[in-house]
Amino acid sequence: LQVKARQALDNIKPYTPGKPIWEVQQEYGLDRVVKLASNENSLGPSPKALQAIQERLGELHRYPDGLSAKLTHALAEEFGLASENFLVTNGGDELIVLISQAFLEQGDEIIVPDPTFSEYAFGANLMASTIVKVPLAEGFQYAADDLLAAVTEKTKIVYLCSPNNPTGTYLPEAELRKFLDRLPERVLVVIDVAYRHYVTAEDYCDGLEFIREGYPVIALHTFSKIYGLAGIRVGFGVAPLAVVNTLLKVKEPFNVNALAEAAATAALHDHAHIDASRRMNEEGREQLYQGFRKLSMSYTESMSNFVLVEIGEKAERIYQQLLERGIIVRYAKSWGFPNHFRISVGTREENEIFLRALEELV
Ligand code: PMP
Repeated sequence: LQVKARQALDNIKPYTPGKPIWEVQQEYGLDRVVKLASNENSLGPSPKALQAIQERLGELHRYPDGLSAKLTHALAEEFGLASENFLVTNGGDELIVLISQAFLEQGDEIIVPDPTFSEYAFGANLMASTIVKVPLAEGFQYAADDLLAAVTEKTKIVYLCSPNNPTGTYLPEAELRKFLDRLPERVLVVIDVAYRHYVTAEDYCDGLEFIREGYPVIALHTFSKIYGLAGIRVGFGVAPLAVVNTLLKVKEPFNVNALAEAAATAALHDHAHIDASRRMNEEGREQLYQGFRKLSMSYTESMSNFVLVEIGEKAERIYQQLLERGIIVRYAKSWGFPNHFRISVGTREENEIFLRALEELV
C-alpha cells in the first residue's frame, strides 16, 4: 500500500506521551507506580464530577449536545461574559488544532516562546505553517520586546503560555498589555492559561480583561489540571464573538462527549475540591523546593503544578533508574534540557517517595 502523505506531514512525528502507569507496572513487575510526569491532579477528580457522570450514564444512547450548552452557560456565568464568547472542546489540545485549522495557511508564521508546550508547533506543522521560536529571557521570563521583534507580515498567531509549560514562569499583566498594544491588530494572540489556578502572583492575568476590551485574544483553558479530569478530555476557549464563530466552522458536530460535559459542569462549581487541590499544590511545591535545595539542585520558581529542576549530567540515567523503581517523571531533553526534569507536584507522600529515590540515585 502506497500512501502519499501531504508534504506538511513530513514535519510531524506521531506524539509519544510519557509511559503510562500500566506499562511501567508491567515492564518492571511493580504494583505501585508514582506518576509525576503529566501535571495531573494527584488528588483525583472532583467527587461532584464523578456523581454527575454516574447520573448521565443512563442517557448514553443519546448524542451529546454539540455546543455543550449547559457547560457553556455555566462558564459564561462564572466568567461574566456572554455564552457566545465560549467554545468547549475535547481537551485544550483540540482547541489548538481548531485554531490552527481556522486561522493558519501554508507559509504563515506562528510565534512561540522557547521552551514551551509542543502542541502549538504541532498545529502549525499540520497546516504547513512556520514556527518562529523566541527564547525566553533570563530566568525563563517573558520579554515583550523579544516577542515583538519576531513579528513579520507573515505572523498570524502568537502563543503565550502563562504559566509556561515546562518552566512555570508567567507573563505579568503589564508585559502582556505592552505586547498587545504594540502588536499589529491582524495578529491573533492565544494565551494558554491551563495552569492559571496555581498562580499566586498578584500581577498575573488570564487574558479575560483583554478579551472584554476587544483585543484579538483567545484564552485557552482546560479541565485536565486542577479539576482533575485529564482522562475525560474537556477544555474551552474564551474569545471575541467573531473568533468563536470562525472556530465553529471547523469544529466536529459532537466534539465533546456527554460524560465529559457533565463532569466539567459539576467540577466547575466544586470549590472545595479546587481549594484543596491548590493547597496541596502550594505545600507540595515547597516540599520539592526544599528537597532540591538539600541536594544543591537549582530549580525555577514555579507558578504552576510542576517544577523544572536541573538534575545534572546524570539526568538521563537517573530518569531510567526512577522508572525501574516505579517513579515516572518528565525528562526535559525534548525541550533542549538534557540535564533537567520537569516534576509534577504530587501528594505529600508521592513527593516524598520521589525525593527519597532521587537522593539515593544522585
Ligand atoms: N496547555 C498546556 C500548557 C498544557 O500543558 C496542556 C496539557 N499538557 C494543555 C494545554 C492541554 O491540555 P488538555 O488537552 O488535556 O486539555
